[in-house]
Amino acid sequence: MKIIKNGTLVTSSRVFEADLLIENEKIKAIGKNFDENGCEIIDAKGCLVFPAAVDVHTHFDLDVGNGVRSVDDFTVGSKSAACGGVCTIVDHMAFGPKGCDLTHQPKVYHEMTKNKTYIDYSFHGTIQHVNDDILAQMQDLVNMGIVSFKLYTTYGFKLSESEILSVLKRARELGVTITVHCEDDDMVSFAKDELIKQDKILPKYHAQSRPDLCEEASVQNLISLSKLVEGSRLYVVHLSTKGGLDALTKERKNQNQNIYVETCSQYLVFDDSVYENDNALKYTMSPPLRKKADIEALWAGIRDGFVDVIATDHCPFNLSKEKQRGKDSFLKCPGGAPGVEERFSVVFTEGVAKGRISLERFVEVMCENPARIFGVKNKGALIPGYDADIVIYDPNEKHTLKHSKLHGAVDYSLYDGFEIQGKIKKVFLRGEKIVENNKFLATEPNGKFLHRVIEKN
Ligand SMILES: [Zn+2]
Repeated sequence: MKIIKNGTLVTSSRVFEADLLIENEKIKAIGKNFDENGCEIIDAKGCLVFPAAVDVHTHFDLDVGNGVRSVDDFTVGSKSAACGGVCTIVDHMAFGPKGCDLTHQPKVYHEMTKNKTYIDYSFHGTIQHVNDDILAQMQDLVNMGIVSFKLYTTYGFKLSESEILSVLKRARELGVTITVHCEDDDMVSFAKDELIKQDKILPKYHAQSRPDLCEEASVQNLISLSKLVEGSRLYVVHLSTKGGLDALTKERKNQNQNIYVETCSQYLVFDDSVYENDNALKYTMSPPLRKKADIEALWAGIRDGFVDVIATDHCPFNLSKEKQRGKDSFLKCPGGAPGVEERFSVVFTEGVAKGRISLERFVEVMCENPARIFGVKNKGALIPGYDADIVIYDPNEKHTLKHSKLHGAVDYSLYDGFEIQGKIKKVFLRGEKIVENNKFLATEPNGKFLHRVIEKN
């Protein structure tokens, strides 16, 4: 047994001093004056004790075609995530071969992850075309413990409105959650074509090829589609715009509790002025970074409860290699950026330390909500009976974030040089200390596939 002593525990409802007793991978009790006989004592004096973070939007080892894959495989990626205070990920799987069954990609991903992952994990199903077989196979994935699915309104495998409606109807029958990448494809194509005609294809034009209106229109449309299938559960991934958030907030104020909102750390920190410098390739991601007003609107949405989750959309490509495909044209640049290891410290610094959100809200959007919304059982909160996935954080130790100190495979960090308030001191996965003072300690990739269950409202 272990006791984490003298720390300040942070939950979504309160911040309080207490000790935490760990037994057999679980939190056994929270309180004071536990019998210390035979226990390992971990002193957390002066530190905050958080549930480990959950990142429900990563793309490890993502095959994006043309021989390019995101450069963190599940082994390196999960190690990096752990060092960033993350003990659970739900990865968005890549598209499979055209026309493949829905069960195709989970098989591929089990191969890629089994005995190769250091933290606990699951996958979102990927719906890339729709027919009766696919709709029937959604049940097969539920039986496998995959109770959420992703669909796209843009890119090569985008779904039409009628396809989205049939997926929503099926999702309602099954009680699963549909996550959606919202960008209006026709509008993106138009904006892109206009730039191409003017020969504006250098990386610095990337953001202009996917204006905020594309996201806002797609979000608005999705809300309308979901109203036709009342009661279907939706989740908007990586929301980046004030316009999109305003539409979703209005809907939530109208008592629609079946629509969830995620943003990602990069949309809370950087604005589109970064595209003006030579490093535009670093920030080439979709949706792109927006304006300062969008950043502040997203923070307000988090504070006020209209943004439920902060994830990362972690999808790393080396600046010196894969990203260089886009050096003369953003059209050729693999989209995505790293962030799984940086999110905890960056959001703590920008959110909590700068007074934009409370500690309780931090825990809600980083740990508790992502676990709850996606049916990850016994994770994301400090509750007796839950897995002892814990981060001990010293809020007073300032440090400069350096890419060289991170553990992922990618050759840059968006946050290199950031002044960070606080430091992750220790991370426990199911009671086992796997990180201490930025040193990764786990020797075996003992991460478990999490059989998720449908979460009723
Ligand atoms: Zn993504």
